[in-house]
Amino acid sequence: MVQYQIEWVGTPNYTPGRGGRKPLAIVNHITAGNYPGALTWMQNPAAKASAHYLILRNGRILQLVKDEDTAWANGIVNRPNWPLYDGTNPNRYTLSIEHESLSGGDLTEAQYQASLWLHKQLIERWNIPITRDNIIGHNRIDSVNRPNDPGPYFPWDRLFADLQKWRGGEQVAEPWKEKLVEQARQEGLISEYHNPDDPAPKWFVLAVALNLLKKIKS
Ligand SMILES: [Zn+2]
Repeated sequence: MVQYQIEWVGTPNYTPGRGGRKPLAIVNHITAGNYPGALTWMQNPAAKASAHYLILRNGRILQLVKDEDTAWANGIVNRPNWPLYDGTNPNRYTLSIEHESLSGGDLTEAQYQASLWLHKQLIERWNIPITRDNIIGHNRIDSVNRPNDPGPYFPWDRLFADLQKWRGGEQVAEPWKEKLVEQARQEGLISEYHNPDDPAPKWFVLAVALNLLKKIKS
């Protein structure tokens, strides 16, 4: 069993406090660049960017911003598909984890295990529910400029399966549901992300039917 520890590194890029808000979601990112460049960039005042945590490919966990403070990770909202977005700056009510990886890259096993451990710490500390809306990717907040953040190889199914096992079988989306939704999205039947655990209202069913009709006619 690996003993994890969080190494404080700090950055000037943050806002003290959270404007009265509490973290209610974890946002996962990939750096699209390697360490140490990925870290020095987030410590450079010119970047105006940061995250609470950075997990390196060897499994080291670095902390740049205190949980109680606001990191500058996902303040720009562009065509979000995240029901918890309330029109105010998401940095105020999220915790952000950067993962060292190139754009379109994956996580190492050591990095995954460290990330899983950190997710558990944050879930317990901040009482964050294990759902696909409380643990998300940056792409859910900015689907235009961050569609691949954290990208296609981020192990969502594994992460949720491991977190559920840890919590003792709390039921959220099963992998096959997630795949079905993704298939429907690729076929153009639904647009963007849809949480498979959400009930489908009438308008949603109608939209799928109309998309299907359009495909048949064309
Ligand atoms: Zn990001």
